[in-house]
Amino acid sequence: MPWPEELERVLLTQKQLEDKIAELAAQIYRDYANKNPVLIGILTGAIVFMADLIRALPMDLSIDFISVSSYEDATTHSGRVRVLKDCSHDIRGRHVLIVEDIVDTGLTLQHLRHILQDRQPASLRLCCLLDKPSRRRTNVTADYLGFEVPDEFVVGYGLDYAEKYRNLPYVGVLKEDAYRKTCGVNSRGA
Ligand code: 5GP
Repeated sequence: MPWPEELERVLLTQKQLEDKIAELAAQIYRDYANKNPVLIGILTGAIVFMADLIRALPMDLSIDFISVSSYEDATTHSGRVRVLKDCSHDIRGRHVLIVEDIVDTGLTLQHLRHILQDRQPASLRLCCLLDKPSRRRTNVTADYLGFEVPDEFVVGYGLDYAEKYRNLPYVGVLKEDAYRKTCGVNSRGA
């Protein structure tokens, strides 16, 4: 694929991503090997991460996906997320691991955790590829984390900008002028 005009630089190479996924999988395997967990990926950004992560886990597990809207009041970030497509597993009594592409303010995950916790799973943890801690507005922290990233708009490896770049095999930083067009409001691209 030719170098996309709107990209400023590569932040994480394919090799860095591969190595990190092997590390995360080793930690998850150690904690869940005999627990037959349900991994719930958040659509759409988590699909590439999820696909690579499960193939690095040599154990019984189920996968599922959930799609949620952004918080309903994008200006104050005070609204709630809405479930657009629910997961299909009954998670009561199951060990659940949420798989997410990036935690930014943490609001999406905070709301989603409440929704899933109400269904009484045996445990509920979070595995996140990327984290932007400087933008956090909640106390959400990932139990399994890939990389901390700076406060820049990143794309690739599942993450989009206006639906583009999900298929890049690396994570790149969008140029500032392209980023400004997002007006600081994140698109979940669900
Ligand atoms: P939060 O609720 O934590 O603020 O938002 C998390 C969601 O915002 C992510 O799942 C992702 O869809 C979107 N997001 C946050 N930062 C970025 C980014 O740098 N790039 C892209 N493509 N999406 C982002």
